[in-house]
Amino acid sequence: LNSRQLKEFREALLAWFSQFQRDLPWRHTGDPYRIWVSEVMLQQTRVAAVIPYYERFLARFPDVRALAEAPQEEVLRLWSGLGYYHRARNLQRAAQQIISRHADKFPRTHAEIKELAGIGEYTAAAVSSIAFGERLAVLDGNVARVLARLDAIRGDLREPKRWSGLQARADELLAPERPGDWNQAVMELGATLCTPRSPQCLLCPVQGFCEARKLGLTEGLPEKRKNRAVVSIYLAAAVLVDELGHSLLLPPPGNSNQHRGDDHVPSLVAKLWHFPTASVQSDAETSLKNILDGLYAMKRWSAFRGERLQAVRHTVTYRKIHIAPFLVRVSRLPKLIGARSAPLDELMEQPISNLTRKVARQAAAHLSESKKAE
Ligand code: SF4
Repeated sequence: LNSRQLKEFREALLAWFSQFQRDLPWRHTGDPYRIWVSEVMLQQTRVAAVIPYYERFLARFPDVRALAEAPQEEVLRLWSGLGYYHRARNLQRAAQQIISRHADKFPRTHAEIKELAGIGEYTAAAVSSIAFGERLAVLDGNVARVLARLDAIRGDLREPKRWSGLQARADELLAPERPGDWNQAVMELGATLCTPRSPQCLLCPVQGFCEARKLGLTEGLPEKRKNRAVVSIYLAAAVLVDELGHSLLLPPPGNSNQHRGDDHVPSLVAKLWHFPTASVQSDAETSLKNILDGLYAMKRWSAFRGERLQAVRHTVTYRKIHIAPFLVRVSRLPKLIGARSAPLDELMEQPISNLTRKVARQAAAHLSESKKAE
């Protein structure tokens, strides 16, 4: 693009953004803390899913200090259901760093922001450009798709050389007077019109500049990446229920020592509160019996007696998790330091993953069915 075309291109996209941008809660603030929380929540999560979490989170933690000083468990509870919990832990760690290194003031430059826990190139550029007007272009999957179509770029966009070429292109296109609006405008175009499938080119404010459109390649770009092979993981979980109707959750690491027998649970499950869970080697019952033997230190189970619940499936990126859940009625729950026991509906208030929530729901439904049948 020559300088006149570049000017037209920027004006067209910014004018479209001013008129058609979605009304999102984080667009009503210039507070870097709030912008940062929204950016972290939006990683790997859809806008519609993020909004209620964002509002609840900020009602409870309205500023950096409130987040830094909260019990981690509460932070995780308010994150519960959003997934990718390392984001919440890092968010709190970074808030604590802001208190200790920057005397409560959110750092203003990209370089300082990038020093904080869990903040990469993209988030640092987004926060510093939107909150402080720093002239930095963001590049994520969404932006890369738009750029690849505008310039009809073929091949795997994540290849390091191609990715740095895209970053250079994004830097060139950035509107220097309004970097924050510019970044949001490109992202908005990718999220609403220049979508992965069926881009709506007729409504696109920059269709006249788009090489892919000229070449009839909009559907075929970006080219598909080679998919990582899917890994299947087989687990079995025991929802223990005692005579009072109480169940048991084991804590995430850090809350207490790992319990005997619980040390092979994949971290996907054990990062938050979870039911006793076993990796299934041969059959689910034997694997669970071994785990329960470990939890009930004084007693060996002569046989595993569990009522099989409907299988639960859950996909996390390339991992397909299959869980065989069982309801296991016991006279008493094992006494374990750090574990929690309560009725199932109370346990569901703990910071648990979506996977554990699905298992808990199956167990609750099964219990109410069997009560009706009595
Ligand atoms: S014309 Fe179509 S493919 Fe090109 S940038 Fe606009 S929406 Fe994307």
